Amino acid sequence: MCGVVGVIAPRSCPPIAAQENYHALLTLQHRGQDSSGILAFDYQQRQFHLHKGPGAVAQAFNQEKLEELQGGMAIGHTRYATVGDNHPRNLQPMVMGHPHGVGMVHNGNIVNYHMLTDQLREEEEQHFLSGSDLELLLNLWSVHYTSKKLEGGGDYLTYCQHAVSKIFETAIGAYSVIGLIANKGLFAFRDPNGIRPLVLGQKVNGEDSSYAVASESTALTFTGHKIIRSINPGELLFITLDGELHSFDLRPAASQDSHCMFEWVYFSSANSEVDECPIYDTRFRLGEALAAQTSELIKSGEIDPEVVIPIPDTSRTAAIALASKLNLPYREGLLKNRYSQRSFILPSQQDRERLINHKLSPIRSEIEGKSILLVDDSVVRGTTSKRILELLRHHGAKKIYVAVACPPIKHPCYYGIDFPLSSELIAANSTPKDVAEQIGADRVIFLTINELQNSLNSKGLCLACLNKKYPTSISASEQFTKQRIEDGR
Ligand code: SF4
Repeated sequence: MCGVVGVIAPRSCPPIAAQENYHALLTLQHRGQDSSGILAFDYQQRQFHLHKGPGAVAQAFNQEKLEELQGGMAIGHTRYATVGDNHPRNLQPMVMGHPHGVGMVHNGNIVNYHMLTDQLREEEEQHFLSGSDLELLLNLWSVHYTSKKLEGGGDYLTYCQHAVSKIFETAIGAYSVIGLIANKGLFAFRDPNGIRPLVLGQKVNGEDSSYAVASESTALTFTGHKIIRSINPGELLFITLDGELHSFDLRPAASQDSHCMFEWVYFSSANSEVDECPIYDTRFRLGEALAAQTSELIKSGEIDPEVVIPIPDTSRTAAIALASKLNLPYREGLLKNRYSQRSFILPSQQDRERLINHKLSPIRSEIEGKSILLVDDSVVRGTTSKRILELLRHHGAKKIYVAVACPPIKHPCYYGIDFPLSSELIAANSTPKDVAEQIGADRVIFLTINELQNSLNSKGLCLACLNKKYPTSISASEQFTKQRIEDGR
């Protein structure tokens, strides 16, 4: 999972697209902290400027570095590596000089990465310098752009449409891409199923209009852009240096909207909107849906919670709704150390487990002797939940019931969320009762798939990790998983 941003301003505006990019990336930091990078294009010097480095945005950049990135258009990336390790060669943005100067960033995973890279090696004699699927996208783009150009006729927009159509035909998986073409403009496209989000914003300043594209709306509102709309699945958007916006619908006929439900459940920022569906409102509805089930168990005397406590931060919204519906007190029994990273996006299980003790500080007075209804946004591996429950027991909790605002995650994700192996998923072959035993809870209550679908107003969801109905072929997933294991993830 990653965060991507692109900004383009007209020639008449100051060349500070990289600065806007930097600020937008700060708001997407929750999507990845492995590395950060910005590529800017300077209209006057006709030159790219690139900087990328390990760590969060504020670690990778300083004022001096940012000032070197002069340019009226820029793309940026904050990375959580799911394919390719954290070697510098895998960091984004990536740029190449032929057939046009072109740079790209992306969010997602290409499931048939190995098959396509082998094909390009054999048929086009291309050589790959990284293990990143962005390099594959860049190469595919370049091969098909060039072939159309060699046919003659048309212009860069025609060649670009052809290249992206070919990517849609061949690349299976999730990819939201933003790119720059030297001296031409900024483009963005989203895979034909729209698995990962991408949103367009605009800022009008007198006669001038600048545009921005990002993974989440929060990045755009923070930089003063007004949200226009989501990029459609299978759409190519091109914004020229003169501020003309072109949209091309290149979606193959067989595609279906399949937006990742996990964006609403866990990943996106609570103040974002994904595919026109606000995250905060959705999480509130998830809490209300969870209350209906929990209320039955309270009425039947199977559970007797006295207080609702969220696991900060993502589950807080659902916990507020749940407490309010059940007429139970809502308390902050666990305080989050604001300087620690999100455990899910740490690279190894060991890192994730070690972090819990640094990350959450229990408040004994809210825990001791209480029967607690603990709210979690989701349970993936269960190791984090187990540690938190141990912490609560250690601070005197009498009983702990865990209410989860997501159905059991039973199947791997091949589209950019870090759970590639069924064997790692606590609910893969377990009942809620088994899960409760394994994490040390008195009871675990999961939301049902129906309740989740009703709470998410978005039509066309990917629910594959819940129901195994993958929106694309996953026949290449074995090789995909093998690479993940080799990378040590
Ligand atoms: S499999 Fe699950 S996590 Fe992956 S894209 Fe689909 S809904 Fe999202």
